[in-house]
Amino acid sequence: MPAQEAAAAQGAAEELPFGVAIIGGGPAGLSAGLQLVRANRRIAILDSNRPRHSATLQSHGFLTRDGAPPLELRRLGREEFESYPTARYAQAMTRQVTPLTPDEAIAAGFPDGIGFRVRGTGVRGSADVEFVARRVLIAAGLTEELPAFPMIRAYYGTALHSCVECDGFEKTDKPLALIGETTDVFSRALLISRFSSDLIVFTNGADTVTSVQEQQLAAIGIRVERRPIDDIVGEKADMTGVRLADGEVVPRVGGFVRPRWHAPVEFLGDHPIDRDDWGLVVVDDRGETSVRGIYAVGDIVPPGPQQLIIAAGNGARVAAKLNMDMIRGALGVGLVDE
Ligand SMILES: Cc1cc2nc3c(=O)[nH]c(=O)nc-3n(C[C@H](O)[C@H](O)[C@H](O)COP(=O)(O)OP(=O)(O)OC[C@H]3O[C@@H](n4cnc5c(N)ncnc54)[C@H](O)[C@@H]3O)c2cc1C
Repeated sequence: MPAQEAAAAQGAAEELPFGVAIIGGGPAGLSAGLQLVRANRRIAILDSNRPRHSATLQSHGFLTRDGAPPLELRRLGREEFESYPTARYAQAMTRQVTPLTPDEAIAAGFPDGIGFRVRGTGVRGSADVEFVARRVLIAAGLTEELPAFPMIRAYYGTALHSCVECDGFEKTDKPLALIGETTDVFSRALLISRFSSDLIVFTNGADTVTSVQEQQLAAIGIRVERRPIDDIVGEKADMTGVRLADGEVVPRVGGFVRPRWHAPVEFLGDHPIDRDDWGLVVVDDRGETSVRGIYAVGDIVPPGPQQLIIAAGNGARVAAKLNMDMIRGALGVGLVDE
C-alpha cells in the first residue's frame, strides 16, 4: 500500500490523498467502494443522495434482497463500506473534477503522475469537501426526464415503471400501457409481451415505431396508439387510464414509461468524455472512460439492463480493474501485459 494511503489507514487526517474518489453512493459506487477499501485503498465516496429509484418503495430481483426497500439497500451498503478504516463517505454534490498536472500528482504521492482534485458542495447540512485522488470513478447514475404529462409523477414508481426486468412480474396479465417516444419502444414492447398480452404502445405522436414493427406487434395482439397524450388519469392512487389529447380515455391500470435519460457529468466542465448516441458514458472493457484515470460504472454506462444487481456487479468488476491500474501504474509496467 502506498505510504500515504497506509498512513491514512492508521487514522491520519482526511486531507491526505485518496486512492479513488467515487462520485455516487448508489449500488454501483458502494459496491466498488467496498471492494477497494478491502484492497487496502483509501477511498472517498461523494453522494448527493438523489438515487434514481427514490420514486419507489420496493426493489425487485437483487438476490437475497428481493422486495427490499431500495433505501434499505443503500443504508446496508453504506454501513458495510464505512465499517472499514480507510473509507470516507461524504454527503456532497460533486461540482468540479480537475486533473492535476503530472508534477502536482507526483507531489501528492501519485507515482504515475495521474491525479485529480474533486470538489463537492455539502448536502443536507454536511460540509463542503475537497479531495485529491489518484483515480476518479463516476457512479452518478442517471437523471430521468419523464414525458411532460401533469400527473405522471403521481403514478411513477407505483403503477408506471421504467425497468421491465425489475417490475414486469408484478404486472402479469394486467391491461398495460407502454409510453415511449424513442426508437427502442419496439423491443420494450416485445419484452413486456412476456408479462401481459393486453398491451397498448403509446408513442405520444412520435414516429418511432415503423409500419413493419407495428404489423409484427399486431400479430401478437399489441396495438400501437400514435395519437398525442394529454395526461395519465386515475382515482386516488390507482391509475385508471391514459387520456389522449382528443379527450378519449384508454383504460389502463399501469405499465411502463421510457424516460429520456441524462448522464449527470457536468462536474467535468471543459473535459468532456465520450458518450454514445443515447448520451451514456462510453468505457473500455476495463471500465475506463476516454479520459485517462477516470472510470465509470452502473446505470451511467451502457448496455444495462439498468438494475441494482447489474450496477453492483459492474462496480465490483471495475474496482478490480482500477486496483490493478494503480498497482501497475506505481510500477510503470503498463495497463496490460504486452
Ligand atoms: C422507479 C424505479 C424503480 C426501479 N426498480 C428497480 C427494481 O425493482 N430492481 C432493480 O434491480 N432496479 C430497479 N431500478 C433501477 C435501479 O434503481 C438502478 O439500476 C440503480 O439504482 C443504478 O445504480 P447506480 O449506482 O448506477 O445509480 P443510482 O442508484 O442512481 O445512484 C447514483 C447516485 O449518485 C449520486 N450522484 C449523482 N450525481 C452526483 C454528483 N455530481 N455528486 C455526488 N453524487 C452524485 C445520486 O444522488 C445517487 O445517489 C428502478 C429504477 C427506477 C427509476
